Amino acid sequence: MNAASVDLDEVRELARAFAEREARDAEAYPAANVAELHAASLVGAPFAAGLGGRGWSLVDATMAVEAVAAASPSTALVWSMPLGLAGVLALGADVAPAEARAAYAAQIERIAAAYRAGELYAACNSEAGAGGSLAATRTLARRDAGGVFRLSGDKILASSGRFAQHFFSTAKVAPEELPGAGVVEFFLVRTDAAGVAIGSDWDGFGMRSTESQSVRYTDAPVEELLGFANYLALVQPLQYWFCLFAAIPLGCARGILDALGTPAPASPALRLRFAEATMRYEALRAYLLETAGGWRAAAGPAYAARVLRTKTYVSQESTKLAAELFALSGGRHYRRGSPVARLLADSFAGTALRPPLALALDTLAEQFGGE
Ligand SMILES: Cc1cc2nc3c(=O)[nH]c(=O)nc-3n(C[C@H](O)[C@H](O)[C@H](O)COP(=O)(O)OP(=O)(O)OC[C@H]3O[C@@H](n4cnc5c(N)ncnc54)[C@H](O)[C@@H]3O)c2cc1C
Repeated sequence: MNAASVDLDEVRELARAFAEREARDAEAYPAANVAELHAASLVGAPFAAGLGGRGWSLVDATMAVEAVAAASPSTALVWSMPLGLAGVLALGADVAPAEARAAYAAQIERIAAAYRAGELYAACNSEAGAGGSLAATRTLARRDAGGVFRLSGDKILASSGRFAQHFFSTAKVAPEELPGAGVVEFFLVRTDAAGVAIGSDWDGFGMRSTESQSVRYTDAPVEELLGFANYLALVQPLQYWFCLFAAIPLGCARGILDALGTPAPASPALRLRFAEATMRYEALRAYLLETAGGWRAAAGPAYAARVLRTKTYVSQESTKLAAELFALSGGRHYRRGSPVARLLADSFAGTALRPPLALALDTLAEQFGGE
């Protein structure tokens, strides 16, 4: 595992302020929290220091997202999207084919400069009925007469919504329009571009303040293709985000454990249950961090399968742990807006995040024995 360069005390200090804001208003987008993450150079923390980051590894980023999730899961979720993009770009331009390397290096510099200017990149990939599957993407990218790609299609659950300046979006593109194109490509789109309509239909069970809105693209001009043709297959970046997503329900369970276990309850039976919960939490965290430690570009199908198992197991078991702890929590937490009740509701988002549990389990069953 890489030596950690993350200062978790610093992150936890920020997270305490996030928790206080969330206690005051759990519905409003956490703009002040995102601004503080920007001010501390944490939105793009995986970038090298020369690009305005902290040189974080995926292990660092996973620990930091978990620490924030224990205090404010919504902030952790909206942060995980640009944090993941920075982590993937921080692999550097060497991942590009030789002919695309210089252009990709320049793109990395441009995006890192936008992070330094406080701009937010958000993920706008999911589509209704696609079940989290990339192959089922229906959004299309077509070149106009001037050669600019334009996106058309409907997206759902784009966290940060109008609070982001840029979306990164998956779309299908015909090989005659982009030689070497993969199943889908990532495109960068300004959220204020013509043809981008951001809905206001978010009404989640948990993660109330994430502004996870529907988006309709109607011939929306893209800023640029992210990377180069067949980027997703050549770089295999999605596993980075999947590790960060698993850290969110894990942080929810940690937050509930902290809230209920401090001060330690007088009942020996409860102390035993909390000691057992601590063992389960520590085992989940160790599994996730070991998997995160294996991240590299184009890591191949065995690593993708390991990440899928880890994300599935950690999300599912963290959510169960959160529910079991909530059942032990007593009447004073049984209020819709109590921090513990919010953490419980927020934890379930981890099982819905890409790939959602049902799709992940189907894929695991297909893969089992096939390695
Ligand atoms: C709080 C929250 C925030 C999110 N933020 C973002 C974001 O910022 N950006 C973003 O792009 N996405 C985001 N998502 C979306 C998320 O990452 C998933 O992609 C999405 O929730 C999964 O698809 P669905 O819910 O539309 O499932 P549906 O397509 O409605 O499918 C319903 C169910 O059927 C299952 N299913 C469907 N097709 C198949 C299949 N072929 N095989 C097996 N099972 C199948 C699915 O797994 C799912 O359980 C967010 C989700 C949540 C809950």
